[in-house]
Amino acid sequence: MKIKDLFQNKKVVFSFEIFPPKVNSSIQTIYNTLEELKGLNPDYISVTYGAGGSVKNNNTIELSSLVKNKYGIESVAHLTCIGSSKNDITYYLNELKKNNIENILALRGDIPKDKQVIGELVHANQLIKHISDNVDFNIAAACYPEGHIEHKGLYREIESMKRKEEAGASYFISQLFFDNNLYYNFQEEVCAANVRLPIQAGIMPVTNKKQIERIISLSGASLPDKFKRIMERYEHNPEALRDAGIAYAVEQIVDLISTGVDGIHVYIMNNAYLAKKISSSIENILSTVNKIELV
Ligand code: FAD
Repeated sequence: MKIKDLFQNKKVVFSFEIFPPKVNSSIQTIYNTLEELKGLNPDYISVTYGAGGSVKNNNTIELSSLVKNKYGIESVAHLTCIGSSKNDITYYLNELKKNNIENILALRGDIPKDKQVIGELVHANQLIKHISDNVDFNIAAACYPEGHIEHKGLYREIESMKRKEEAGASYFISQLFFDNNLYYNFQEEVCAANVRLPIQAGIMPVTNKKQIERIISLSGASLPDKFKRIMERYEHNPEALRDAGIAYAVEQIVDLISTGVDGIHVYIMNNAYLAKKISSSIENILSTVNKIELV
């Protein structure tokens, strides 16, 4: 199934993001995680593409195929172009086709620290165009409610979204954010610029302080005072911090759904406990809203 069709039929598309386990870690853990995620009925699960990885030593296809073909959940395979040749990309797309995968999240990827960019395609819109010109996939793209870290501010970001829409993307998934007001401002700007594709809001439940510091340095996401207070108060109490992080994410999601968001994409970091807690807290509002839409 092509994910773009879900936005036609559903009020709020709900998905999880997972990553391929490290090469030497136990593959059994991912089976256990997927078993639990299946019971939560997400609309789809997306699978990340290792930063700096190559198409041939990347487990994204294998895991996306497992999600779809063993667990019967629609999957979206991520792909970055910054370190890949067009031949590599063709190989990857053919493998996805062989595995019956119909959806791709097409990304540029982060520029490597040594700045050795070996790909022929250097922006996501070029990758999107390359895919849509050559093969029949449903293509999602990334967007950044606070602007991309290399060019903060929304002007450049919205120009970038327009290019991705024109190139053939069918919907967006947003970078994580912790301040819904910034997201609503972003939505207004996007709408004013006539970008019409649906956007799924990216939410990450934060569970420990180190993780949040890493995320901020990678994404540049702003932290509202309320969020900072939680971090400070529970800094030395991991369980309380985890629970407060989940509660904060649930509050964000409920507010977004009530305000008419197109979809929610939860970065669960392979943690089925987080996924379960969030799903059970929002299942009523999600099913009510989706029923109203379908009537
Ligand atoms: P682009 O759209 O190419 O944008 C990158 C920068 O270039 C932006 O500042 C933009 O304004 C500018 N720009 C874009 N197009 C042009 C143009 N034509 N001319 C001039 N400037 C331009 N990374 C991974 O390695 N693996 C993953 O699995 C992964 N999954 C992600 C999932 C989501 C939902 C998100 C939001 C990000 C993900 N990333 C992943 C991170 C992503 O690769 C980085 O944020 C990367 O730096 C930018 O990717 P992009 O596709 O947005 O790039």
